[in-house]
Amino acid sequence: MADLKITSVWKHFGEDAAVAEVSLAAMSGEFIALLGPSGCGKTTLLRLIAGFERPTGGHIRLGDRDMVDGNGLFVPPEHRRVGMVFQSYALWPHMNVAENVGYPLRVRGLRGAEANRRIDLALEQVGLGGLGDRRPANLSGGQRQRVALARCLAMEPDIVLLDEPLANLDAHLRESMQHQFRAFHQTTGATMVYVTHDQAEAMALADRIAVMDKGRIVQLAPPPELYDRPANEMVARFIGRGQVVTVTGAGEQPDGKCLVRIGEQVFSVRGHVDVGQPAQLCIRPEWMTIAEAGAEGAITARIQARTYRGPVSSLEVAVSDDLTLSAEVPGYAGQIGDTVGVLIRDGWVLPG
Ligand code: ATP
Repeated sequence: MADLKITSVWKHFGEDAAVAEVSLAAMSGEFIALLGPSGCGKTTLLRLIAGFERPTGGHIRLGDRDMVDGNGLFVPPEHRRVGMVFQSYALWPHMNVAENVGYPLRVRGLRGAEANRRIDLALEQVGLGGLGDRRPANLSGGQRQRVALARCLAMEPDIVLLDEPLANLDAHLRESMQHQFRAFHQTTGATMVYVTHDQAEAMALADRIAVMDKGRIVQLAPPPELYDRPANEMVARFIGRGQVVTVTGAGEQPDGKCLVRIGEQVFSVRGHVDVGQPAQLCIRPEWMTIAEAGAEGAITARIQARTYRGPVSSLEVAVSDDLTLSAEVPGYAGQIGDTVGVLIRDGWVLPG
């Protein structure tokens, strides 16, 4: 498998930039997810890598070959050694599984023992060994998607591009397919770029996630870093139901921490803000504790809403007329209308 290097790539449709100055380097064997709201440019970026779209600027390099060099070179999709898996599986209903997997090989004139070897290996790799004789109609949705994946693998691509491959499956099957995709990625060592708007899916699968907004990559980082240290307000809110609260710097602290004032209290959080200056603080719902009203160091708040979610309860707590916080606490806590204390155990001052 090959590494991928995208440098300052643009794609305009008329005046509008669907992809704006995107740079991204994926190592060979890395699993990158492109994540972002509808219309942020994920699919267009994937199609640029595949060669289905021509960029209006920038470079794209796959392994040791330039695909687009900014000087007029444009390698068409059929010469890129790129495998693509779509949301719809596009299997031929009149062919069995092995024939479907072998179809692109036949189109390229590859038949006989080598074709059979590749078909068998690809079916093994997706856990469908022995099902080559089945018709697509006799497979589950998850198995059909794995046939589509095997068909792409049989071409021995340098990189596998996946456009919301699990979007058509129900929630249960999606989760089990996530495990299979991960296992499959580990056994094949394939370089993968995976488009999704489902953050849980991206978190579960990817080595690194590129969060996109309005055509740009706003943060490219491993999932825990995105969660703990979002680069800006959009990432903070988009990932993990983060809330962003305006705070004031209240003191220095060692180990990359600082003090910030929220309401009548001061809390120690991660990041930096100058004393007396305003900043935006990201707080995750589970970074808060609900204590008794008047507990030491707690902000006084009133429970406005409560949703029981089994192991946890989600609480909306009003601190003031213009500040309501969402907390997630273990068990079945509090009643609507209760006055409580809110402790902020962790927070991240958004940079800049
Ligand atoms: P979704 O999650 O809804 O699929 P996305 O993040 O994949 O969205 P894209 O499909 O890449 O977003 O679209 C990015 C922007 O480019 C959108 O504003 C879209 O309307 C526009 N766009 C995409 N393809 C074309 C096209 N062929 N012609 C004109 N505009 C396009």
